[in-house]
Amino acid sequence: MLDWVIIGGGIHGVHIAARLIGEVGIDREHIRIVDPGDRLLERWRTFTATTGMRHLRSPSVHNLDMNPWSLMQFAGKRRERKKGLFAPPFNRPSLDFFNDHCDTVIGTFELSRVHVRAKVEQCSLSCDRVSVVLSTGEQLSTANVVLAIGSAERPNWPQWAPTGDPRVQHVFSEGFDGWPRTRERVVVVGGGISAGQVALRLVDEGHDVQVVSRHGIREHQFDSDPGWLGPRHMKGFLRESDVDKRRSMIRDARHKGSVPPDVRRALNHAIQKDQVQWIEGQVEDLHSHESGFTMKLAAGDVLEGQRVLLATGFASQRPGGRLVDQLVDSAALPCASCGYPIVDKTLQWHPRVYVSGPLAELELGPSSRNIAGARRAADRLVAAVRSQRRNAGRVR
Ligand SMILES: Cc1cc2nc3c(=O)[nH]c(=O)nc-3n(C[C@H](O)[C@H](O)[C@H](O)COP(=O)(O)OP(=O)(O)OC[C@H]3O[C@@H](n4cnc5c(N)ncnc54)[C@H](O)[C@@H]3O)c2cc1C
Repeated sequence: MLDWVIIGGGIHGVHIAARLIGEVGIDREHIRIVDPGDRLLERWRTFTATTGMRHLRSPSVHNLDMNPWSLMQFAGKRRERKKGLFAPPFNRPSLDFFNDHCDTVIGTFELSRVHVRAKVEQCSLSCDRVSVVLSTGEQLSTANVVLAIGSAERPNWPQWAPTGDPRVQHVFSEGFDGWPRTRERVVVVGGGISAGQVALRLVDEGHDVQVVSRHGIREHQFDSDPGWLGPRHMKGFLRESDVDKRRSMIRDARHKGSVPPDVRRALNHAIQKDQVQWIEGQVEDLHSHESGFTMKLAAGDVLEGQRVLLATGFASQRPGGRLVDQLVDSAALPCASCGYPIVDKTLQWHPRVYVSGPLAELELGPSSRNIAGARRAADRLVAAVRSQRRNAGRVR
């Protein structure tokens, strides 16, 4: 029987696996990461490449290795030699460099060897184990499961947008191939960092770009105040025992639809040069014709375009679909009225089931989905394993 099955080989799953192996010495033979990607972090790589982002929004200490300074150390002398490895402020790593570092972490802990290429379809809980049924028909038996499934399986698809038309695509849809190959007039829908970065990438590649956003450009360095990473805001959050109130605190804390200053500057520059038109409005209707689309906005404006790229984020419902629904039903797992797990301090949802990312939000707060959230989830899991071992020692 395995010790740990981590469901999801994204930023969270990879970091948690590295910490379980490197920090508490879980034997690699007793751990698996189940993810359908050809390689670990596939979804992260695809999404970030699509946006054309050059640097991360988060600082260098938010990385996947055990030691938060590892990314800076990895840069070593390269830092002086190579410009652009980090962007100010807060030493935000370039995407390529961050990804190289992720590869090193995966290599150091030999995580590719524990990667099982499959989707988990079902988890059955019994008193001494979890049986994990895979899309390949295989079954794994494990003492513990971590749900590290992220939130990206359900891109937010507005009602007015037709499905099945290759000229209307969500940039984070599975198998997205809607990037224009020749010069086109493209309408990007959305007002956050991904919409901004996609617009800038389209400009770089010579397209005519209109961005339709419900609001003007909103600037915030991070997607929530860094005080949420420590006691400044988390103390009050954890003191609140009403999980519905915690949900509203998370909602209020998130700078949804915002861009960091460098993206704002680049967008303003492109707007001044007439390369991007930023249109504030709400799409009401989209009518397709042979040469493209007519888009009607609620205020009456009408836009013409050849392609629509949706950068409208992800649906806010609890992720995990049937897999998580079944788990909840089979073991009567506690959920808040928003549907998200109510877990304890160790992120345990059931004696054998732990969560991270969006599923851990009601315990870790607004940064739970980010790289910083992966680090904090791993801190809790490492502490849980250590405490289990201490208790087991006492019993013996
Ligand atoms: C474009 C973009 C840029 C971002 N930039 C930053 C940044 O700079 N800094 C920062 O802190 N955060 C950033 N984020 C936010 C966050 O860190 C990322 O979304 C990160 O990828 C989340 O990691 P994850 O492991 O939770 O989810 P994912 O990377 O989505 O990984 C989850 C994995 O679980 C798999 N999975 C789901 N269901 C199952 C199942 N049933 N069985 C098996 N596998 C399953 C999925 O296929 C996927 O591979 C960014 C997000 C995006 C989209």
